[in-house]
Amino acid sequence: MSVIEMRQIKREYRMEGKHKKSRSKSKTDTTAVVVRALRGVDFFAEEGEFVSVMGPSGSGKSTLMNILGCLDKPTAGTYMLDGIETSKSNSNTFAFIRNRKIGFVFQSFNLLSRTTALENVELPLFYRQRHRNEKRHTNKKRKEMAIAALREVGLGDRMDHFPSQLSGGQQQRVAIARAMVNDPAFILADEPTGNLDSEMALEIMGLFQQLNDKGKTIIMVTHEPDLAAYTKRIITLRDGGLVSDTPVYIRRNALEDLAQWKKNNASILEEK
Ligand code: ADP
Repeated sequence: MSVIEMRQIKREYRMEGKHKKSRSKSKTDTTAVVVRALRGVDFFAEEGEFVSVMGPSGSGKSTLMNILGCLDKPTAGTYMLDGIETSKSNSNTFAFIRNRKIGFVFQSFNLLSRTTALENVELPLFYRQRHRNEKRHTNKKRKEMAIAALREVGLGDRMDHFPSQLSGGQQQRVAIARAMVNDPAFILADEPTGNLDSEMALEIMGLFQQLNDKGKTIIMVTHEPDLAAYTKRIITLRDGGLVSDTPVYIRRNALEDLAQWKKNNASILEEK
């Protein structure tokens, strides 16, 4: 089933500025400068895919991510998310889509610091946007769902910990549990290992691979080819256009790489 269907997505930023004309001090030119951040991108993703979005700085990754995440609307083009035509949606529908259809994972985890892991994961359920006839979850149900999500990311024994009592990798696991708790159509991860050391980054990529193996659809923005090698498909942007869209033929296994990494580091420690 199609989760994402983007057709000819364009995003232009108009920079309305008063530019003084060079020859005359008094006259100003109010013509807008238009930045074409996306110039007609077609992007389709099916359920169960694991896609990296790559490209140099300024190529349009954040702009595409904001549109994918329904945080921004394109200037032109259509975007169907899980069968919903987002381009014509109002702000209520946008809020519903963000809460129910997309699980966000950020580089900086974005956890509430005075709140336990369990409460952090319960939060999207607390603010759960409902269909017209949908019932509100009971407290008990919310807690059960949050516990299940934390168990799925391997944090069943850390539920009552506050973020400060968890490692960076564990905090990102909490954020991933929070992203999954509403069973979204896809997880949208923005440089999810950017704040983690190599070992924790491999752990997180391993977790993403496990979740993807269970059928979760993941879209990950990254500028690191090493990380993209753990995904199944890489799309590359340049100057606001999609310049390549290729499957990852020889896909790396993050947990195997992690085991190897530990072995190598153990031998370095032994040598000392
Ligand atoms: P990336 O995430 O790949 O670095 P961006 O999507 O942030 O790229 O930016 C793509 C282009 O759009 C860049 O030229 C950038 O300067 C421009 N841009 C991004 N956001 C804005 C904005 N709010 N206003 C004007 N120009 C913008």
